[in-house]
Amino acid sequence: MIMLCERCYGPIDPDTEGHYRLSHIDHADSAGNITWREAAVHTAACAAAGSRFTAEWQDRAA
Ligand SMILES: [Zn+2]
Repeated sequence: MIMLCERCYGPIDPDTEGHYRLSHIDHADSAGNITWREAAVHTAACAAAGSRFTAEWQDRAA
């Protein structure tokens, strides 16, 4: 399974990169059953996708 970081949209290698796995509620039906969406995010500082500070944050994380 390929994991993409929810913050920087970069790929996460689960064997070498620290990350959190997150579960978000997508929706619930009238009976109360919840549909979950799984996501992941780097634990190290990474810049938000499209941020003009990307290069600066990558230097801090290194
Ligand atoms: Zn990231």
